Amino acid sequence: MILRRVLAALCAAAALAGVQVISATPATAAPRILYYDASQAQEFVSVVHQGAQIWNSRVTNVRLEPVTAGRTPNIRVYADNNWPRAQTTSLGNGRWWMGRQAVNQGYYQPRIAAHEFGHLLGLPDRRTGLCADLMSGSSAPVSCTNAYPNSREAATVNANFRTSVSVAPEAYVWAP
Ligand SMILES: [Zn+2]
Repeated sequence: MILRRVLAALCAAAALAGVQVISATPATAAPRILYYDASQAQEFVSVVHQGAQIWNSRVTNVRLEPVTAGRTPNIRVYADNNWPRAQTTSLGNGRWWMGRQAVNQGYYQPRIAAHEFGHLLGLPDRRTGLCADLMSGSSAPVSCTNAYPNSREAATVNANFRTSVSVAPEAYVWAP
């Protein structure tokens, strides 16, 4: 009983710390395909594709592909005048917005797109202030034009999809 409580407390602490608890699902060889729908991303459709290609060039256990006719997308991408943001429902599923509030402040659009896809791939915000970190998001200078995950971020995404890690629903906002 006490052990159960300790484990529960540890899991709660891990969740609070943003640590992902890895499930015991066996590894699979083929990458998981996630289909994204960029048709509602307005003027940002091409940068959405760019963000997907950035991830495809850095990870092997998951691929982001444009959704094809008749298929339900895993990820829907929108655009509006607010901050860029993401809402995840589970690993690889949810939606994100290209927000003109950040675009108009000069944040590099491919970095925004890759960052928001990063949330859908199971990465939380890490406000380190470092341009080398994709998930530092708006904490890095507006002048930062790094749109690629660092090796640790890419390794985490590969691990997430190797084990189909369980990710709780979450909302993230690109607010400085
Ligand atoms: Zn973020």
